[in-house]
Amino acid sequence: MRDDTSASWAEGELRELLSLMMIGACIWIIGTQLGVFTVVLSFMTLHGLEHMMLLAICMTLGVVVAAVRKSLKLRRVMMARDGAQAHAEAVARHDAMTGLANRRLFRELLDMRIDGARGVPSIAVIQIDLDRFKPINDVHGHAAGDAVLCAVADRLRLVIPAGNTAARLGGDEFAVLFDYGIDTDGVSRLAQQIITTLSQPIPWGAGHLEIGATVGIALATVETSTAEALLHAADVAMYQGKRDGRSTYRFFQLEMGHALKVRARLEQELRTGIERGEIEPFYQPVVALPGRELIGFEVLARWRHPDHGLMNPADFITLAEETGMIADLSWSLMRQACWDARSWPSHLQLAVNISPLQLQDKQMPERVLAILTETGFAPSRLEIEITETALVNDLESARIALKSLQNLGVRIALDDFGTGYSSLYHLRELQFDKLKIDRSYVSSIPLGSERARLVDAIIALGSSLGLVTTAEGIENASSVDWLANQGCTYGQGYLFGAPLGKQATDLLLAEWSDKDGNVVLDGAAEAQRQEIAAEAAMRAA
Ligand code: C2E
Ligand code: MG
Ligand code: MG
Repeated sequence: MRDDTSASWAEGELRELLSLMMIGACIWIIGTQLGVFTVVLSFMTLHGLEHMMLLAICMTLGVVVAAVRKSLKLRRVMMARDGAQAHAEAVARHDAMTGLANRRLFRELLDMRIDGARGVPSIAVIQIDLDRFKPINDVHGHAAGDAVLCAVADRLRLVIPAGNTAARLGGDEFAVLFDYGIDTDGVSRLAQQIITTLSQPIPWGAGHLEIGATVGIALATVETSTAEALLHAADVAMYQGKRDGRSTYRFFQLEMGHALKVRARLEQELRTGIERGEIEPFYQPVVALPGRELIGFEVLARWRHPDHGLMNPADFITLAEETGMIADLSWSLMRQACWDARSWPSHLQLAVNISPLQLQDKQMPERVLAILTETGFAPSRLEIEITETALVNDLESARIALKSLQNLGVRIALDDFGTGYSSLYHLRELQFDKLKIDRSYVSSIPLGSERARLVDAIIALGSSLGLVTTAEGIENASSVDWLANQGCTYGQGYLFGAPLGKQATDLLLAEWSDKDGNVVLDGAAEAQRQEIAAEAAMRAA
């Protein structure tokens, strides 16, 4: 752009100079032809005025040069203005950090490609969303986040075939406009290449950062033949990829649009539900084995939805995690549970589940402390349950957060042990207080089965590391003695009671406590039985 401007400027200048010279030459020719110069010269010489004439010529020359200079200056100013305008245009169409096209330019190019095609063009919009980008920003700071975005841009430039466009649409969202010609398989190949290249570690400081990428692809079709429709379809496909487990790619299909609408409605309802306090804590008894003395409750979220009734965590916790609402939801639930438990016997403990995302929050220990202080709930009565996924994402932040919580006096349990990826390494690196054996191992343990041997091994592993164990999902009285004999410390499951709301829990404590406030759950009370039946019916629905 700048080169074009200076070329046309030089051309203009030259033309002006030549014109001036031509005018001078014409005056001279006319003057000589008419003999004007001879008359004037002899008149001047006669009267000794030739110096005056030379002076006039020199002054005229000076005026001409001044005019040329002025026009030069004017052109330079105009050129600078044109340059600045061109620069501003370029800035408005590119992402300042990565230098890639921005959303505006991407859309313009997409529009041009669609309008310029005869019929439906052979193009794909490949939308890329980075996995695990937010924790990098939160844990390593914004400089690390910027480095990741620039590395992503560089890798995209390398991987996309020449003639195609990569853009940063905003945040950690990128897109590629890919002209696949007749090679439709090329789209999947490119998507896979993008995922592979973006999953390679990114050097940072003395170590490296790791991200992933989930890709949504929309091919231009009769239904998706506008820029808007293509971008929306790629977005929908990308969200489907996220739901299907990330680091994968998905092509847009028409039925995905409906699922997304349902999800968007639920998301909106959950947002207002959290504000209105529709998410309630339910309490499931935890007992000591083998005597079945109540030692406390696990707090489990329930959503009292105005239209759908009581909803289970499986229907909304993942959504809350994906949309970042989980923190608000969990903290309000923990606060509510701590208030509820104040009126219960002081030896009863509360176990609260927190999501992997909350573990990445550097302020997490302070938030817990603030809730304990506000509600006057003793830290020694609180247990935090984390799942193994939290450790895989970022072990270092998990270690820091857990240590600070333990310093407050809060205990940490590793939940659903045996279902995730945690290894002996995690158990050695992080000092847990408790292992919770997942219910898939426990709910039906036929003696002598392989499951029973695994449960036995987990209990032995726990006790060798100095950890107590809770068996989750106990439904049959037959497994209670066996678990206790293997050394399992606590039990939880429908046999002792399903999760109950605050009122039902108050009732249970009032009716079942002895004079010292102790409760032994040696048989399900009628109220509990009803709750269990209601819960089972709800699950079936
Ligand atoms: P979890 O933490 O492992 O909770 C135990 C789950 O097992 C609960 O399901 C409970 O109702 C169920 N359960 C307990 N005893 C039995 C039994 O004997 N048989 C069977 N079949 N199931 C039993 P729920 O309440 O549906 O919660 C599911 C999961 O959702 C929880 O698993 C936990 O990971 C998550 N969750 C629940 N509340 C919260 C929350 O407030 N925050 C977070 N981040 N996650 C939560
Ligand atoms: Mg739990
Ligand atoms: Mg569990």
